[in-house]
Amino acid sequence: MISQNAIETLRKTEIGAQGLFIDGVQVEATSGASLPVTSPIDGRPFASIADGNAADINRAVKSARKAFEKGSWSRATPAFRKKVLTKFAELVEKHADELAVLGVRDNGTEIGMAYKAEPLSAAGTIRYYAEAIDKVYGEIAPTAENVLGLIHKEPLGVVGVIVPWNFPLMIGAWKIAPALAAGNCVVVKPPEIASLTLLRLAELASEAGLPAGVLNVVTGRGAVTGEALGLHMDVDAIAFTGSGPVGRRLLEYSARSNLKRVFLELGGKSPNIVFADAPDLKQAAVVSANGIFRNSGQVCVAGSRLLVQSAVYDRFMDELLQATMRLKVGDPLDLANDVGAVSSAEQLDKNLGFVARATEEGARLVTGGQRMLTETGGSYMAPTIFENVTQDMQLAREEVFGPVLGVMRFETEEEAVRLANSTVYGLASAVWTANLSTAHRMVRAINAGVVHVNTYGGADITVPLGGVKQSGFGRDKSLHALEKYLELKTAWIAL
Ligand code: NAD
Repeated sequence: MISQNAIETLRKTEIGAQGLFIDGVQVEATSGASLPVTSPIDGRPFASIADGNAADINRAVKSARKAFEKGSWSRATPAFRKKVLTKFAELVEKHADELAVLGVRDNGTEIGMAYKAEPLSAAGTIRYYAEAIDKVYGEIAPTAENVLGLIHKEPLGVVGVIVPWNFPLMIGAWKIAPALAAGNCVVVKPPEIASLTLLRLAELASEAGLPAGVLNVVTGRGAVTGEALGLHMDVDAIAFTGSGPVGRRLLEYSARSNLKRVFLELGGKSPNIVFADAPDLKQAAVVSANGIFRNSGQVCVAGSRLLVQSAVYDRFMDELLQATMRLKVGDPLDLANDVGAVSSAEQLDKNLGFVARATEEGARLVTGGQRMLTETGGSYMAPTIFENVTQDMQLAREEVFGPVLGVMRFETEEEAVRLANSTVYGLASAVWTANLSTAHRMVRAINAGVVHVNTYGGADITVPLGGVKQSGFGRDKSLHALEKYLELKTAWIAL
């Protein structure tokens, strides 16, 4: 784990003006324009990123295509790719302190969480796909004897990666690592408010021996660079994590351009369901509080709807409130804090808008609801709980992506299932019960990509993550994610 001393040294590091990373080097944006990088810790600018445009995306895609055609990566042996990616993972680990602090200065996630979830998780993901790629075989089809049907697995070509600001390294690695392992060349469009770690990641990849042009990073505004990547005629696939509205745009871009495949990991409104026979209510309350309030609720799988069975409602709410009050909110670079800053002043305003609407619609504020630590200049919000939330309220239906929990009561298992499945989303969920049969019935009944039982979060790289309904399609993580980046080709050979 990183030490407070190391953090204090790194928090003062000059970052300066960042370029784009194209063809293995940092270059200026075509327009020469830049965007300031403001830290949510204190509201002050501490760096700038290049404000890329469609011409820059075009340069990056050309470089990626050239590298792909050249074949020094795409046609290299899986053993070679494994070697380079293993070195890449080692370098990410070696630079974990630097990457973690850089990322926290950019997006405000508490360092304890960011350290594990960002560089360490990214390194683990890169290593996982490095290890996997020389174990992927083609197939021989069960044909008649006079033919040979071979199924080859080939890289797609140029893959665009677009990620959000909450965990850019972790989520970026979930897409970049399998895409690279499979032999693709990649153009990354980082989130405009948290681009710095992905730029550094590309430099480390180059240092590890990744050939020029295989991994490019173009920073800039989503509506400009993201759109240009989505519309580009020479991009074969887009792997996206972010909001539903942008996901819809990417599908449109694909339809309007070259029908590139699009993989979408979108938002959620995940139900966390506590049955009266939960094995340990206190533990369930602590994990539930962490499951919504860590990283200020800016977690796609956050348990933002809490459903509690009536028989234990008062006891559970009491434990939940105590667990919530114990969470220390403050400077995300102080290891003593449990919850850091909201990623930006705009996001904080949006969260407060949800609080105002929930109050207007008749939900009861149990705790929080306001901005905190205003004197720092940063964006901090108190963990917020509303009860008496009903299905028709905005808080029960729309994703806040902030530290705001809506609580509902239920009586029966059927009612819990109905409430759980009553949003347009289906990303994550949890069930707390000591009854094995209830647990298994709920796993089947809940429409979500992930159902936790007697825990929340923490699922590692070995299992897939993704949603159903309007939480998207396609899966990150696990060996299943590799398939997204591999094309099947049939060879039908007469013997
Ligand atoms: P966002 O959709 O606003 O932005 C995501 C990315 O898309 C950014 O890089 C942004 O620059 C880019 N973008 C914006 N406009 C674009 C356009 N017109 N064309 C192409 N790209 C464009 O989302 P956000 O605010 O960064 O992140 C929060 C959202 O991400 C939430 O909905 C959250 O649930 C979701 N999320 C999902 C997962 C998951 O695994 N399912 C994980 C983390 C976050």
